Amino acid sequence: MSITGECFCGDIKYQVNGDLHEVKSCHCSRCRKAFSAQASATALVNPDEFTWLSGAEKLTSYVGGHGFGFQFCSQCGSTLCTVLNGKIFQITLGCLNGDPDLEIGTHIFVGSKAAWEKMPHDVLTYECGPPERS
Ligand SMILES: [Zn+2]
Ligand SMILES: [Zn+2]
Repeated sequence: MSITGECFCGDIKYQVNGDLHEVKSCHCSRCRKAFSAQASATALVNPDEFTWLSGAEKLTSYVGGHGFGFQFCSQCGSTLCTVLNGKIFQITLGCLNGDPDLEIGTHIFVGSKAAWEKMPHDVLTYECGPPERS
């Protein structure tokens, strides 16, 4: 699979040549702030399959504790991806172009969602984090 994404102003573009994994949305208070929304919406990406097509010089980073951070457009503010120890870790679904043929399979930390958010009834939700992978 090959898909592209870009920020709001369109100056930063990227391409993923590969599949996205673990498409999920986190409703915790930290993700609400980081994504300026009711929740995050992200998918794991293999860093080897990710390429910046243009505008990479306009990227700005914020890295918090544990080496986890965000890369966003210094011009328009779109959050394009998350990084872990300097490597691309996840892409934000909001910046994808077109139909990537995937859907959010898991909603986590719904137990601490915003009081003003109403969850749909037909989605898989977890009060806290997802169950341990076996
Ligand atoms: Zn931009
Ligand atoms: Zn979260």
